[in-house]
Amino acid sequence: MMLPRGTFRDKTVLVTGGGTGLGLETAKRFGSLGARLVIASRKAAHLESAAAELRPLGVEVLPVVVDVRRPASVSSMLQRAVDRFGGVDVLVNNAAGNFLCPTEDLSPGGWKVVIDIALNGVFYCTREVGRHMIERRRGHIVNVVAAYAWTGGPGTAHSAAAKAGVVALTRTLAVEWAPYGLRVNAVCPGVFQSEGARERLWPTAEAEEALRRHVPLGRFGDAGEIADAITYLASPFADYVNGEVLVLDGGAHLGRGLGH
Ligand code: NAP
Repeated sequence: MMLPRGTFRDKTVLVTGGGTGLGLETAKRFGSLGARLVIASRKAAHLESAAAELRPLGVEVLPVVVDVRRPASVSSMLQRAVDRFGGVDVLVNNAAGNFLCPTEDLSPGGWKVVIDIALNGVFYCTREVGRHMIERRRGHIVNVVAAYAWTGGPGTAHSAAAKAGVVALTRTLAVEWAPYGLRVNAVCPGVFQSEGARERLWPTAEAEEALRRHVPLGRFGDAGEIADAITYLASPFADYVNGEVLVLDGGAHLGRGLGH
């Protein structure tokens, strides 16, 4: 952990998809830095087991069942957070869905479901919580994107298109909402071990090894490294960082060069 304890004392942080994977690790990190937490996703079981891990650490946590694809559900998520904690200081848009599928076989329904979660859902959460932050004249938003927003992602056209949209949203709002005292940034994970990502994106040992070979540092990222980056971007140490996309991929976006 790189930030001083107490960095987020008296702050409320809302993490979508905060019950599993990178979202849970990020929630834990905010909690250990003093934040009150709202963790929100579809499955109560994910949220309850995450809350059971967080509470013994002394973290105040409100689990909220939400489907980010439904604006009314997003609106009641914010209301629950405000009723319990008085407001939201940091929003982490981490929830997403993805699956591998050749684009020629991707049905309109399959396309729509990923765009609905990973792009429309980010917009609904950002709009709802952003309006609340604008009223209060403070707040930070951190979006979780992916490298294929730039490179494209064969087999994940839906998710690549959604993440590219979120990069555009991040940069747009960084400028549009700066006059209200808000900052909007993003992190871009390369390959990180999470159960969800492994099941969907590298289900076999061979696929995992092929991905690892693509990373100049020769390893997958550790979820704690994403948590460090997100907490940094939401902290006062990043008060002059706005509209940035921080890439954590072991150098993978640079390619391996001809000698490898
Ligand atoms: P994960 O554990 O599967 O996280 C996805 C989360 O989104 C889950 O907690 C899920 O919870 C939630 N979610 C899905 N649909 C939802 C909906 N409609 N409404 C609300 N919540 C919903 O996978 P992860 O690897 O930690 O991914 C976290 C983020 O990192 C994602 O944005 C992903 O695109 C990004 N990312 C990951 C990697 C990687 O290598 N792991 C690489 C690049 C980018 P419920 O099932 O309870 O709804």
